[in-house]
Amino acid sequence: MRPLHADGTVGSCERCPRLVASRSRIVEASGPLSASILFVGEAPGATEDAEGRPFCGRSGAILDAALAAAGLQRDAVRITNCVRCRPPENRDPRVAERANCAPYLTAEIALVEPAVIVPLGRIATMALLEEAVQVTAATGTTEQVTVAGQRYPVLICMHPAATLYDRSLRPRFDAAIATAARLG
Ligand code: URA
Repeated sequence: MRPLHADGTVGSCERCPRLVASRSRIVEASGPLSASILFVGEAPGATEDAEGRPFCGRSGAILDAALAAAGLQRDAVRITNCVRCRPPENRDPRVAERANCAPYLTAEIALVEPAVIVPLGRIATMALLEEAVQVTAATGTTEQVTVAGQRYPVLICMHPAATLYDRSLRPRFDAAIATAARLG
């Protein structure tokens, strides 16, 4: 697989036949390549698929509010996904789909060289740490990963959607984003 274009876009990809059939488009990452914080989601939802931007639906509104509370402009951070095409019926991306898309995430990390990587939720955390993590319990804790020969801190964070199902989680989500702002 070729790496990303120099501007950080995938451009075209047909590696996952099921996702090619169901997607409207590839949802490219947003934000500058010079960003010091890289947020990594799971996969686009219906709104992201329709609008072509990661985290622009309900989860995105929660992320935006937490970024603003932490003094971060959304346009100053890079936001991407482990899988860049919407899975049908919002199912979890399959192992093969995650594997097909993983080289893009690796290339993106090497291109951006962020000061901190923030996986949002279980699937993104697993993609980065290559182990299953209880993300709700681990939110706000930091691990290290090596990508393309370089070490990066990974600040584990629950998915913003988790705070929709359990509103009591919101302060811990906001606190993790504030920690990301300090590390970035
Ligand atoms: N959830 C994700 O994990 N990514 C998005 O882009 C939107 C919702």
